[in-house]
Amino acid sequence: MKTLFVTLEKDPREARVALIPSDAQKLAKLGWEINVESGAGAKAGFADDAYASVGAKIVDAEFASQADFVVSVRKPTIEEVSKYKKGSFHLSLLDPFNEKALIKAFADAGVYAASFEMIPRSTIAQKMDVLSSQSNLAGYNAVIKAASVLNRILPMMMTPAGTISPLKFFIVGVGVAGLQAIATAKRLGARVEAFDTRPVVEEQVRSLGAKFVKIDLGETGQTAQGYAKELTPEQIELQRKGMAKVCAQSDVIITTAKLFGRKAPRIITADMVAGMKAGSVIVDMAVESGGNVEGSCPDKNVVTPNGVLIIGDTCLEAGVPATASQMFSSNVFNYINHFTVDGEFKLNLEDAIMKSSVVTADGKITDERFM
Ligand code: NAD
Repeated sequence: MKTLFVTLEKDPREARVALIPSDAQKLAKLGWEINVESGAGAKAGFADDAYASVGAKIVDAEFASQADFVVSVRKPTIEEVSKYKKGSFHLSLLDPFNEKALIKAFADAGVYAASFEMIPRSTIAQKMDVLSSQSNLAGYNAVIKAASVLNRILPMMMTPAGTISPLKFFIVGVGVAGLQAIATAKRLGARVEAFDTRPVVEEQVRSLGAKFVKIDLGETGQTAQGYAKELTPEQIELQRKGMAKVCAQSDVIITTAKLFGRKAPRIITADMVAGMKAGSVIVDMAVESGGNVEGSCPDKNVVTPNGVLIIGDTCLEAGVPATASQMFSSNVFNYINHFTVDGEFKLNLEDAIMKSSVVTADGKITDERFM
């Protein structure tokens, strides 16, 4: 494989690009011929000229049919996949649990499709882990977004004009996004509390200077990959009861609770939102996979009758497109570099990272969960 094609993202909400010029240059040094769809990096601040100056060719969308390797941030359409070259390789966020028809289209086209969501959570694969790099930025931007719409400041201030109390943040779900949300809110001076069903998280929350909210849910835990196990309906009810008071006292709630490959748990009910103060803000970071908050809506801001703003931004990381693209691109470079030997991208389905991330090979779907 020699020719790499970087697509222009077709979703109007998407401002990221999968490969930035400095990584394009590094791949060119490895022997790749880099082709970038015109305008691909524009929204993230990377003009066509910046790619051309490192030796990339600026091409149009039709180039996809000639490329050995196609990379994008978001999944392509079935129609686009039908035009890909047989035997070529595609890498993006494919959302395979929800996109079975698309995965079948890859198999039918004889294209090797690799899904960033399926990269294993191992030490060696950390540098290719798009879920982590983007969640980290989403957690940061959730706090910034909430701060920008609040009518109050976050830190405590003692001034001759009076003492201002710090705002209270409550972070529900402390994975990659939640940890960054805690760190960002703390840096801005807020008082932060947090909760997660995985007991190992308590120490991490404390180490960031936040308070861990203790709720006894009985046996909880995590999978071998570190993902949360699903709670029973009784446990969810216990969780809601345990959180209601903290929610009522919070100025900002950021929910990040997700279950890998499944619908997100509905943790905050309309009653709990109704118990919050007017002017409070909730950011539901799980809104795309079903939502943690009753009443949240994908890509819409909802104001409840009691004056609580619920933000349902599905792609908070795209709000900082230059940084998000830089990190995404680094993950892409590391994936391709890992499998490039003597200037050639080598398919190796015995390799743990490729085996886990590749969902179609040799005209077949390789993971029965996506059939
Ligand atoms: P995620 O996005 O799947 O979920 C976010 C958080 O929500 C998790 O911490 C989860 O425990 C929590 N959650 C689920 N149900 C909940 C509920 N009912 N109430 C409260 N919280 C709930 O998680 P993630 O950010 O992808 O991280 C998952 C795990 O993977 C973590 O243990 C993380 O440390 C680990 N991880 C490992 C690597 C690596 O080793 N390469 C990389 C990234 C993440």
